[in-house]
Amino acid sequence: MITQELTIYNTLQKNKEKFISLIPEHAGLYVCGPTVYGEPHLGHARPAITFDLVFRYLKHIGYKVRYVRNITDVGHLENDADEGEDKIAKKARLDQLEPMEVAQFYIDSYHKAMDKLNVLRPSIEPRASGHIIEQIEMVQQILDKGFAYISNGSVYFDVPKFDQEFGYGKLSGRVLEDMISNTRELDGQDEKRNAADFALWKKASPEHIMRWNSPWSIGFPGWHIECTAMSTKYLGEHFDIHGGGMDLIFPHHESEVCQSTVANGKESVKYWMHNNMITINGQKMGKSLGNFITLNQFFNGDHAMLERSYNAMNIRFFIMQAHYRGTLDFSNEALIAAEKGMLKLNAADKLIEKLPASNNSSENISEWVKRCYEAMNDDLNTPKLIAELFDASRIINSVKDGHLQLTASDIDLLKENFRLFYYDILGMVPDTAAVQGEDVTEKLMDLILEIRQDAKTNKNWGVADMIRNKLTDAGIVVKDTKEGAEWERKN
Ligand code: ZN
Repeated sequence: MITQELTIYNTLQKNKEKFISLIPEHAGLYVCGPTVYGEPHLGHARPAITFDLVFRYLKHIGYKVRYVRNITDVGHLENDADEGEDKIAKKARLDQLEPMEVAQFYIDSYHKAMDKLNVLRPSIEPRASGHIIEQIEMVQQILDKGFAYISNGSVYFDVPKFDQEFGYGKLSGRVLEDMISNTRELDGQDEKRNAADFALWKKASPEHIMRWNSPWSIGFPGWHIECTAMSTKYLGEHFDIHGGGMDLIFPHHESEVCQSTVANGKESVKYWMHNNMITINGQKMGKSLGNFITLNQFFNGDHAMLERSYNAMNIRFFIMQAHYRGTLDFSNEALIAAEKGMLKLNAADKLIEKLPASNNSSENISEWVKRCYEAMNDDLNTPKLIAELFDASRIINSVKDGHLQLTASDIDLLKENFRLFYYDILGMVPDTAAVQGEDVTEKLMDLILEIRQDAKTNKNWGVADMIRNKLTDAGIVVKDTKEGAEWERKN
């Protein structure tokens, strides 16, 4: 059962819309994943965390979600143009490695960083290089329908023809005439009939390492076709949400709209969602600007612009303090401020356990829970949700100091929902691993003693004795009291 009404901003409609899934209680989510030819950096963290929130929240409110996030390992071209050296091939020659070895190295590196940020793994993580056949088939479909042409062994999408029939630029707002008049004629562009056309398949030059057979040439697929081919394969011709960073709207997503409209006979995506970019001290991040900071550099503080190291939860919290469609500017001060906020919430969480219960409540906790849901339902308004968590922290501290009162059931309601929103939905992890470990031990011991009690009730003395003996061996002493079994560590 779907328990909440979620509203999300649809980039295609330029409006907030109610989320109504195509198949009841199921949601298909496709997100453009990383291109794996370098260390994951701060720019990777924002889309990963944004769509992790979408994934977590959809699941929480009752959807069965298939989340597909691809890996671009075919190596698309410099400057996202159709010319230039294949990035993975270039890196491979420099490092004297197999291109797939380079890709694997950075895929692992990406996964490690994402695990630290507590980003859940998607349901399917397809690699472009594993879907060459699907991409070739889709290029052929587009050719068969007359919206592409072959030129020197390469295949290009015919953008003016698409514009005439379906109208180009729905997602990005680009106007075809402006694009043509603004484009300089580049080398090799004579292969194309029109400057706005984009490659579906490129014939490989002799030095190009990553290459596959196709009906048109030995070559490699264009960047845009991989996402259309893989989203269609795993989510069908029409699916709910396609996400990615705002920088992908043009040309990548606009080209995907062209491809799927022709290949599938209709635009595949119902809701397009885009996260905004991260700037660093007000500047766009870029290797040439010297402000390019990898996630590992954040974790170990090893970059000239970093005053210290920052842990992964600090970065996650910093990203979620801004709404995903808003700009986000990194600075040391901003990260340190985020850490302060995070520590305040961590401290509040520990206090909840020890709150004294009263006969009456002076705060309406059910209303507070409602406000938390309203924040998330309003296009995943995490800054608003975090403000509510700070309000909970105020309540918790005031109850502890005796300035406010809560009944035992309201304390439970507050505890349950504070943890739900902070840990399960925002994806933060409890303060320290040590505390978490202690917590787990308590829970496991409760479970073991419950099993032992069950065994005793059923007169299964063998099992009861075995549990006690094994615990003694592990340095844990069990004492049976009138109130039930207790345990302590032997010193
Ligand atoms: Zn994509």
